[in-house]
Amino acid sequence: MKLLIPAMLAMLLTVILVSCGAKADSPTVATPAPTYEITKTDAEWKAQLSEHEYNVLRDKGTERAFTGEYWDNHEDGLYVCRACGLPLYDSKDKFTSGTGWPSYTRPAQADSLATVTDSAWGMSRTELLCKRCGGHLGHVFGDGPAPTNERHCINSVSLRFVPRAELNSTPAPPATP
Ligand SMILES: [Zn+2]
Repeated sequence: MKLLIPAMLAMLLTVILVSCGAKADSPTVATPAPTYEITKTDAEWKAQLSEHEYNVLRDKGTERAFTGEYWDNHEDGLYVCRACGLPLYDSKDKFTSGTGWPSYTRPAQADSLATVTDSAWGMSRTELLCKRCGGHLGHVFGDGPAPTNERHCINSVSLRFVPRAELNSTPAPPATP
């Protein structure tokens, strides 16, 4: 009987560890694929993205906690989709969740995200995708801070941070030879 408690703790730990994203090789439930404004073949995505970016954005992988570029980023700016550049999250809505993944209480624009029910690992979770290109971002949970109580748990590698100052500056004209 003494072995039972460590075994239960191990199971609990496993549940906690997988609670912020499915691994690339996890079973997924077939849901009708939504259509996206930007569609590319796997070969085209592979040519555009790094291996790590492809694994998360296109294969629904999860970066390891506390390893991403942005979980501890406190700069002022916007987080855009790394695959297509659509603005997804504002730094004003970012909060310290302690999970090791960048976490937000809401999207920058109400219509920038697509959601799919993810039943991998025997859990029912809501997967978040970029509405424009279908890139996998992470999951949304209902244990976030007020007023939305939402916790958007997002992979850094699905995002690209653009400092506010760069958003407001007009792009330089192309250099002429
Ligand atoms: Zn996108």
